[in-house]
Amino acid sequence: MSKLYEHGTLAALMAGNMAGTIAVGDLLKHGNTGIGTFDGLNGEVIILNGEVYQAVSDGHVNHVTERDAKMPFASVHFPDKPTPVTLQQVNFDLLNGQFVDDHQLANVFAFLKLSGHFEKVHTRIAPKQERPYPSLLEVAKGQPEFHRQDIDGTILGYYAPDVFGSITAAGWHLHFISDDRQFAGHLLGFSADQLKGDFEIFDTLEQHLPVEDQDYRQSKVDLQSLRAGIAAAEGSK
Ligand SMILES: [Zn+2]
Repeated sequence: MSKLYEHGTLAALMAGNMAGTIAVGDLLKHGNTGIGTFDGLNGEVIILNGEVYQAVSDGHVNHVTERDAKMPFASVHFPDKPTPVTLQQVNFDLLNGQFVDDHQLANVFAFLKLSGHFEKVHTRIAPKQERPYPSLLEVAKGQPEFHRQDIDGTILGYYAPDVFGSITAAGWHLHFISDDRQFAGHLLGFSADQLKGDFEIFDTLEQHLPVEDQDYRQSKVDLQSLRAGIAAAEGSK
């Protein structure tokens, strides 16, 4: 069973610690598949087979080959004997309900990757922020959203149990990227007749913290508003 490696925490992002704290090259030592964001919350990242793609807020997708580029928050893993899956009439309702129940995901971290033809895809892309960084909640109010119909692509990302919902997004956190690599983003909604792919669960979470970063060391997290803020900023249905 493989290990999920996570750099940074959602709570730190919520508090406005958006500066990059791990280089892409270092992150890729811990996984060749995953999702994340770049320095200053600059876009939505998809990592597939060691290739790094960044959707930026004007809607373009960059193929990132620079290994020194830094990220404040990312989750990656090396796939290890994933379980094949074929799903019909796929949308977030199915993933959040029946899929979680069928595979008993409620209390585990899991990865899901599904490819095929999507009737609809609804995404959003975080715009790059400048210092002094706002809270993630404020950023969430002004994020460009995108809609596509009849597009071939892949969704991938992670499931986290509710009790871990302050270090990462609870439930599914999925990103989309089209087969032609021209359209990508953080997934807010989708529908597809049939998707094929695989999933796996992790028995180990490695939570890496940016301990050299002074902003992180000095930041204060307001637990009272954390959950509500995360729901508003990272929620998907
Ligand atoms: Zn995302």
